[in-house]
Amino acid sequence: MHETSIVIGLLQSLSDLADRENAKKITKVRIKIGKLSGIVVDSFQFAFDTLKGEFKKIKDAELTIEETPARYRCNDCKKEFEIDSVYFPECPQCNSLNLSLISGEELEVIDVEIEV
Ligand SMILES: [Zn+2]
Repeated sequence: MHETSIVIGLLQSLSDLADRENAKKITKVRIKIGKLSGIVVDSFQFAFDTLKGEFKKIKDAELTIEETPARYRCNDCKKEFEIDSVYFPECPQCNSLNLSLISGEELEVIDVEIEV
């Protein structure tokens, strides 16, 4: 599963972070996943909860996922807008299909709480 390898990468970098900060453990992790990232949030959450036990500083961490919508800028009228549907987006103002994607593909850690 696609999400599993991403979660393992995330857990490894969190584990490195905990070591670097001399933390006893990580208690909370908040991440942002873009709608267009191709990541299934439920699978990601499940993989995280399943795999976190392998990392002793992360095994009690609670994961919160914020899903961010796709955000586009219209190249014709310059309007920026967010959209839930990922198929055939069009500008709500001028119906143009000439759009640039601004965000929606990201996977970012927003913040991490550690216990020292
Ligand atoms: Zn437009």
